[in-house]
This record gives sequence, C-alpha cells and structure tokens, in this order.
Amino acid sequence: MTERTELRRIPDRSVTDRDAIHAVLDEGLLAHVGLIAGGPAGGDAAHPVVIPMLYARDGERLYLHGSPASRLLRTAKKGAEVCVTVTLLDALVLARSGLHHSMNYRSVVVMGTAVEVTDADEKVAALDRIVDHTIPGRVAAVRPARESEVRATTVLVLPLDECSMKVRTGPPIDDDEDMDEDAWAGLIPIGVAVGEPVPDDDTGDDPVPDHVADWARGPGRANGRAV
Ligand SMILES: Cc1cc2nc3c(=O)[nH]c(=O)nc-3n(C[C@H](O)[C@H](O)[C@H](O)COP(=O)(O)OP(=O)(O)OC[C@H]3O[C@@H](n4cnc5c(N)ncnc54)[C@H](O)[C@@H]3O)c2cc1C
Repeated sequence: MTERTELRRIPDRSVTDRDAIHAVLDEGLLAHVGLIAGGPAGGDAAHPVVIPMLYARDGERLYLHGSPASRLLRTAKKGAEVCVTVTLLDALVLARSGLHHSMNYRSVVVMGTAVEVTDADEKVAALDRIVDHTIPGRVAAVRPARESEVRATTVLVLPLDECSMKVRTGPPIDDDEDMDEDAWAGLIPIGVAVGEPVPDDDTGDDPVPDHVADWARGPGRANGRAV
C-alpha cells in the first residue's frame, strides 16, 4: 500500500492481507482498466478512459492481453500509468432510509505501470493463465496457442506492488430514530448466476466435460445451478 492506495473514507473497511487480495482477484472475471489516453502523443486531447478487460493473476503480478491495435494496450505499454479495479458484489443492503442503503462488496484497486511481456514462453504462460483463470481446466482441453496467435497478441504485466482492498459486510446500519420505521430491512445476497451450458451446432450432443458442467464462481460456488 502507498499514500495513493491508502483508504481515507471508512478506513476500517481496508484489508491488507495478501491472501484476501489474491482471493478477490482470483474470483473476479472482469477488470476495469483506466488510464489517461490521448494528449500530445495520442493525437487528441488527454482524457481518462476506463475499459473492461479479462485478466489473470500469477503470484504478485496481473496479466492483461489484447490486440496490438488496442489503444489502451498501446498507451499502457508506452508507460502510461494504469489503474485496474476488480469488484465483487455480494449483497444489496436494504436500510430503513434511502440514505443508508448500501452494497456488500469486495473490491481491489491496483495502480502502477504495466510493461509488455516479450519473452515467448512467459507470453504463452500468461495467455494460458488468462484462459484458465476464466474457465479453470480449459487450457488442457483445447489446442495450444499457435506462434502466430501469440505474436498477434499483446500481453502486459502489472506488479501488485501498489494495491488496496476494501470490503463491506454485514447488515444495514440505520439511524437509531429510524428503527421503528415500517420498512423491511436486511440483505439481498447477490452473485454470479450460471445457466446450463449451450453446445454449438458442431458440438451437438457430445458429453459436456466437467470443467464446463461444473463451472461456478464465488461463495457457495453452485451459483443456483443443480449440481
Ligand atoms: C467482458 C469484457 C471483456 C473484455 N476483455 C478484453 C480483453 O481481455 N482484452 C481486450 O483487448 N479487450 C477486451 N474487451 C474489449 C475491450 O473492452 C475494448 O473494447 C477493446 O480492448 C478495445 O480497446 P481500445 O482501447 O482499443 O478501444 P477503442 O476502440 O480505441 O476505444 C475508443 C472508444 O470506444 C469506446 N469503447 C471501447 N471499448 C468499449 C467497451 N468495451 N464498451 C463500451 N465502449 C467501449 C470508448 O468510448 C472508447 O473511448 C473486453 C470487453 C468486455 C465487455
């Protein structure tokens, strides 16, 4: 943690435990990656942009990937600082007044400078990690990446040196004078809902492999699907 990633608003919701930070990053599917685009080098006026992306963690590093044409990746690999946010929503918090409604969440913010991965083996490992982060067990079930595919993909690595985690748990926090109000208060737990896998036409009635049938995310991990 640094001065930039020190929680100032409700600091008791800060979590610094590395395992907890890793767990949020490993459970998340989607990162929002922000940077300042444009400016003298970019051809248009400097402006903030936040783009949704896949990612994966390996130890104390986060990998991002995409097309070499991606403006975000091109800007980041030239040294623009990035801010990566991963948010897990756990519950809607219903209080006795609108003001005290909230959400239970776990979120991680990572800041820093990402660098391009040029080593071919590390690049393949990073791409595999992104696939397996999203769908555990998938890499073993599909053909390996071709050299041309790896060449045609940009991979960036961002150290987890400067990061923060914030968590809200528990029931609503109402004002004392509102406790007799006639309003239902409590939590609506929320998470990832998973439907039944839908085969494409060529797959047809082929058996559904375990890594597909059992895909789940988050607390409870069955996500409402029969298992
Ligand atoms: C769930 C999800 C996962 C994704 N994962 C990846 C990934 O891992 N790697 C990757 O390269 N791309 C990913 N994308 C696509 C990504 O969001 C960008 O569209 C893409 O990377 C192009 O980025 P760019 O900076 O070149 O966009 P540009 O096309 O240069 O952006 C120009 C403008 O287009 C708009 N724009 C761009 N992307 C989006 C968007 N997603 N939604 C709405 N407006 C947009 C913005 O206004 C932006 O300022 C993902 C998208 C989603 C929704």
